[in-house]
Amino acid sequence: MGALGFVRGTARVSGKVYLVGAGPGAPDLLTIRAARLLGQADIVLHDALVHPDTLALACGAILVDVGKRSGGRSTDQRFICRRLLAAARRHDCVVRLKGGDPMLFGRAQEEIDALREAGVDFEIVPGVTAALAASAATQVPLTHRGLSRSVSFVTPRVGRTEGTSDWARTVAASDTSALYMAARDAVTTRDGLLAQGMDPSTPVLLVEHASLPDERHLAGQLSHLPDLVAQLGDGPAVLLVGEAMRVAMRSAPSPRARVSGT
Ligand code: SAH
Repeated sequence: MGALGFVRGTARVSGKVYLVGAGPGAPDLLTIRAARLLGQADIVLHDALVHPDTLALACGAILVDVGKRSGGRSTDQRFICRRLLAAARRHDCVVRLKGGDPMLFGRAQEEIDALREAGVDFEIVPGVTAALAASAATQVPLTHRGLSRSVSFVTPRVGRTEGTSDWARTVAASDTSALYMAARDAVTTRDGLLAQGMDPSTPVLLVEHASLPDERHLAGQLSHLPDLVAQLGDGPAVLLVGEAMRVAMRSAPSPRARVSGT
């Protein structure tokens, strides 16, 4: 595939691009639509943390790792956009495979803008985001009747070219919050939340590698967040904050933390 084609008598300038959610890690948490598209893809541009078994579904595709860990420079994103457009010019079915859900902390807007500007046809396929995988893995619901009626998806991470962020205020105003890219800066995260007047004993639940065999859970209270984070490995971790997380502390062997792996 990949030669310039003709569609309804008009020269086709490009193939179609699918921004696809790869889910949190476990290959069988992929949607059926995502799996089908991977099987049809001519080329897959994927994030760094996509499971090898997920990539194996793209048996007829060229695989391109365009992964960048959080904190990557914005020029990296421009490079990815250029690769995406180049792939669309050359191939019929292009899959851009992103961790979790593509529309949540996935730099999707930059890619959507680039595709629109170039007149490339595209479609978005949702995926299971890390917070939902973490909730399922720990069997702790994000909402709880009478206790938690709101959930926010938040990141304290602010890009170098961005202004300030109200992330801590958002967490303080939500019943439950899922914080992405927050675990590595535990002291900043904790202090930001305490400065908003949050109770130091607010329950927190950290889930590393949600949905994968080396998944780990740590429950404790906000004031101990840096101690909890110190017990994590170096995998991606999502931080769940709020009273609804208190159930995760019930069977804690110590007042500080409960550690469990699967
Ligand atoms: N689009 C992704 C988020 C990308 S931002 C999604 O919807 O999940 C990257 C952050 O996601 C990581 O820093 C971490 O906070 C979180 N994350 C991604 N995969 C994870 C996993 N398997 N377990 C826990 N957290 C994860």
